[in-house]
Amino acid sequence: MTASLAGRSRSADGVSTVGVGEFQVSILLDGCISGSFGLIDGIDADDARRQELAAGRPEPPVISVNAFLIQRGGRSILVDAGCGDSYGPNLGRIDGHLATLGVTPEAIDAVLLTHLHGDHANGLFTEAGTRRFPNATLVMHEAEPAFWRDDALVAAAPPRAVGAVKTARNVLDLYRGQLHLARGGEVSPGISMLPEPGHTPGHCGWLLTSGREQLLIWGDIVHLPGIQFARPEAGMVFDVDRDSAEATRRRIFDLAAADRLAVAGMHLDFPAFGHVERLTGRSGAAAYGFGID
Ligand SMILES: [Zn+2]
Repeated sequence: MTASLAGRSRSADGVSTVGVGEFQVSILLDGCISGSFGLIDGIDADDARRQELAAGRPEPPVISVNAFLIQRGGRSILVDAGCGDSYGPNLGRIDGHLATLGVTPEAIDAVLLTHLHGDHANGLFTEAGTRRFPNATLVMHEAEPAFWRDDALVAAAPPRAVGAVKTARNVLDLYRGQLHLARGGEVSPGISMLPEPGHTPGHCGWLLTSGREQLLIWGDIVHLPGIQFARPEAGMVFDVDRDSAEATRRRIFDLAAADRLAVAGMHLDFPAFGHVERLTGRSGAAAYGFGID
């Protein structure tokens, strides 16, 4: 099954909407984080810098942060919620984008979470510490709360991967009466959870299927598109388990390339819809390219 989203998007400042069968999917740009090559794990910082600059990208590296709004038949579902008020003035634009689209926080029926890191989950609470989406069911992989709630597992993880422990627990407490935990498979008609462990234990993607069209919103398979398609061995210091994050990245790239699956990501450059191609990299190793739709 293939889906080309080419030429079907409607874009405004930081919002772009495509149709995927009966779904309307809007990417909402939360903002951009200024990164550093020291955040990369698995290849050295000089190598990463050369790769990024060869891809024509800026230094220091810029990491986009996106969330997605899915609409169908009067239902409004968010995939992730961005940084909220917690990452400074350059991020936290999701609320404004929803208002532009005429969607109030109360009208969000569900939030599908890729994982509990702050740039995905902190938008779930307001500056006053209340639930931003009071009527939403919060859906995530069951391994996510099992990990973040466990002091020993958190203590054993790389420190940069678990800086979000307080806010993750805060989100779980705030939404405790409206959590829906799953292990994969369909959670709503045409919307399936795809487990993608590694970046965090419960990290997952969300696959939309409607008629003959599909879109995979893959979460954090890629943080730095200039580097990680060409060098899939490059992980991030935010990976809870770098090796399984790499294995998952290669598996998802292969799946997306083989099926010519339309993909979108939380850290792909806005508007973030495209296709993965399998290429031959250095010394015959698998490498990948990304074509924007
Ligand atoms: Zn992220």
